[in-house]
Amino acid sequence: MRSISIFGATGSIGESAYDLLIRSGGAEAWNVVALSGGRNISRLAEMARELRAEVAVTAYPELVDDLTDALAGSGIAAEAGADAIARAADRPADWTLSAIVGAAGLPPGLRVLERGGALALANKETLVTAGRLVMGVAARNGAQILPVDSEHSAIFQALGAENIDNVAEVTITASGGAFRDWPLDRLEAATVAQASTHPNWAMGQRITIDSASMFNKALELIETREFFGIEPEKIKVLVHPESIIHAMVTHRDGGSIAHLGAPDMRHAIGYALHWPDRADLPVARLDLAALGALTFRAPDETRWPALRLAREVMAAGGAAGAVLNGAKEQALDDFLAGRIRFTDMARAVEAALDDLTRQPGFTTSPEDLATVLDWDQRARQSAAGWTARHGGR
Ligand code: NDP
Ligand code: MG
Repeated sequence: MRSISIFGATGSIGESAYDLLIRSGGAEAWNVVALSGGRNISRLAEMARELRAEVAVTAYPELVDDLTDALAGSGIAAEAGADAIARAADRPADWTLSAIVGAAGLPPGLRVLERGGALALANKETLVTAGRLVMGVAARNGAQILPVDSEHSAIFQALGAENIDNVAEVTITASGGAFRDWPLDRLEAATVAQASTHPNWAMGQRITIDSASMFNKALELIETREFFGIEPEKIKVLVHPESIIHAMVTHRDGGSIAHLGAPDMRHAIGYALHWPDRADLPVARLDLAALGALTFRAPDETRWPALRLAREVMAAGGAAGAVLNGAKEQALDDFLAGRIRFTDMARAVEAALDDLTRQPGFTTSPEDLATVLDWDQRARQSAAGWTARHGGR
């Protein structure tokens, strides 16, 4: 039996992975080692019992008693805190899904790679904040990273065994999110509720808002660069409202291979779970005749300044990815709390990048986790400072 751990089990990606495990035999078919969650203790305990996990971990130390109570009599260990999550990642497992949201997903993912484990990576922040470090640790320990972000899974599949030098261009698509067709002058007043809806994908609230602001695609541009080692100029973004083509690889001979599928994350998760094999997955089959047409448009950088910021970050290198992500997470917290407006998020991130690019060491790629987390903290402080100066308007 293959052994499996899931970090971020109670989230949108975690639930989709859980669904695949249950459908394919649950605890009878999989040896589940560790499951982690955050505040949703009852769901974490329910999943751990159903899958007969060895250990369940909540990120929050103050919830350890609730988790212990919820697991009473099950024989499943209850643990809490970021350190406990990292220790759970040390437990041997053949396959680990990284599906925590935010930079908090980086430490456990790194621990998996340090022990040479296979890491299915939904947590894009891992590569955005620490791409060079993460890819180096994976290579040194013979660890396999399997992309789960739909665009990156699509590129991975479309690339196959092709020599990367034969790739002229990689295109990742974007639905355009909640505000794709809004008049620009209305964006300023967009509310949290309006930004939390997505035309095609059902996802966690944070990535849904990041889709509306295009910070999600900004992170994905950097993720593409770091994971595939492709030059930034070769990575394109294409707005594709139907979200059927997820990515396309164009070769130097002019031919392109696109990856198509229904917008259902169980495809990308299931692909990573069964890689290098394939299994039957419960995803809708495409009916292109019924769809009739697929449409495309160039992204508008006035509407979505996050795309320009991602280009600047890729050009700067070094700690810029950690700064963009840390500042974005803080700005998103501030938007969620009503302290800044929707369009202020990009302003706060740009200010953090401008502010921190002048700091010593900025252009050096962080070589250890502590340095990454230090830049992450500085970026959060910078963005919080922006909010203190400009928020509440
Ligand atoms: P959700 O917000 O739905 O879930 C996040 C998970 O992380 C939950 O299990 C949550 O626990 C847990 N969590 C939250 N904060 C912390 C923390 N500080 N430390 C440890 N665990 C924490 O997110 P998604 O599933 O949408 O996204 C997960 C990751 O996958 C993100 O990096 C996202 O960008 C990426 N991704 C998501 C896609 C999607 O379709 N949803 C598509 C592609 C990539 P709890 O809920 O119990 O509080
Ligand atoms: Mg994606």
